[in-house]
Parts: sequence; structure tokens; C-alpha cells
Amino acid sequence: MSRVLFFIAIFVIVFLLLKYYRKQKIKDGDAEKNAATTAKSKQTEDMVRCVQCGVHLPKGESLVTGEASKTKYFCSEAHRRAYSDQAQ
Ligand SMILES: [Zn+2]
Repeated sequence: MSRVLFFIAIFVIVFLLLKYYRKQKIKDGDAEKNAATTAKSKQTEDMVRCVQCGVHLPKGESLVTGEASKTKYFCSEAHRRAYSDQAQ
């Protein structure tokens, strides 16, 4: 009889652990999802378009020219030059 009680106790403990583990995993998943969303929105926020070829690149990697009101972004020095040659 004590053996049956022992197995029932084991079963209950395993069940509770599984339930707890699953809850933790859902929490982790939400945190990951939120982090991913934040990173994504941050990335799209900082994306700029090369005026010369139209390619999108992170603002930090772009070359910036022009005054505050007419800021232009370029993917490379070559495109910055090509654009200023065109403009003249
Ligand atoms: Zn370009």
C-alpha cells in the first residue's frame, strides 16, 4: 500500500514540476518576443535609404551629407561622390 502512495506522490511531483516548467517557458518566450520586437522596431527606426542606389542600410553605417534640412544618406563613399557629380 505504501508503494502505491509513493508512486502517486512521485506522479504528483512530476506533474507539478512539468506545470511549473511550462509556465516558466511561456514567460521566457514572451520576454524573447518582446526583446525581438524592441530590437526590430529600433532597427527599422534607424534604417536610411541610399539616395544614389536606393538600398536600405542602418543609419550608423551610412554616409551623411547636407545641411540639417536636406540631409542625404549614402551606402558608400562612391555613391556619395556619384551623387554629388550628378548634382553639379
Ligand atoms: Zn548606394
